[in-house]
Amino acid sequence: MLIATRNAHKTREFTEMLGAGFAVEDLRAHPEIGEVIEDGMTFLENARLKALAASRHWRGLVLADDSGLEVESLGGAPGVYSARYAGAEAGDGENRRKLLAAMASQGDSRRARFCCVLVLAEAGETIATFEGTAEGTIVHAERGEAGFGYDRLFQPDGCEKTFAELFASEKNVISHRAAAVAKLLTYFQATLPEYK
Ligand code: IMP
Repeated sequence: MLIATRNAHKTREFTEMLGAGFAVEDLRAHPEIGEVIEDGMTFLENARLKALAASRHWRGLVLADDSGLEVESLGGAPGVYSARYAGAEAGDGENRRKLLAAMASQGDSRRARFCCVLVLAEAGETIATFEGTAEGTIVHAERGEAGFGYDRLFQPDGCEKTFAELFASEKNVISHRAAAVAKLLTYFQATLPEYK
């Protein structure tokens, strides 16, 4: 299965969550599949853009993920702009600094959720879509060094640690991506005879 991403962190998480039953590749090995302009207004639209573009070049299943962080007191920002919150060329550190600065005026209103939408496609057509969320709060300063993106700022409900303080094996059972992948695996169990 081709994962329609160039984000090595996402691919590592998918590889671990999907398990040994899948041979997984991502777009880093396929420069012939060009960049997609993610101009959708929702995670679903952007995931579909990525999945369909890649599946036109790939014989077999394609899985695209579009994901991001929605902060309640910021009206859902950064949302679909999570990767480029501090600008088109911004890295994860700049995005986190911008988020902490935006949160400085929000006091105790720190509720947030990570969202993940997966689109499964084949031969240029959408086969199925799956969603997962993880609820939590934005902490006051970065904690932890694992993971990527906003992991150092997000503490999931019921947990004393941020995503970046957890082992990958711990994040990968409670994350938004884990919730969406669980639905994907249930779908595979029902539809792929070789997966049973
Ligand atoms: P995408 O690759 O266009 O879907 O952008 C996703 C962005 O959302 C990433 O660059 C991160 O900033 C953020 N994000 C999505 N999932 C996670 C996660 O699991 N941890 C931390 N940040 C995430």
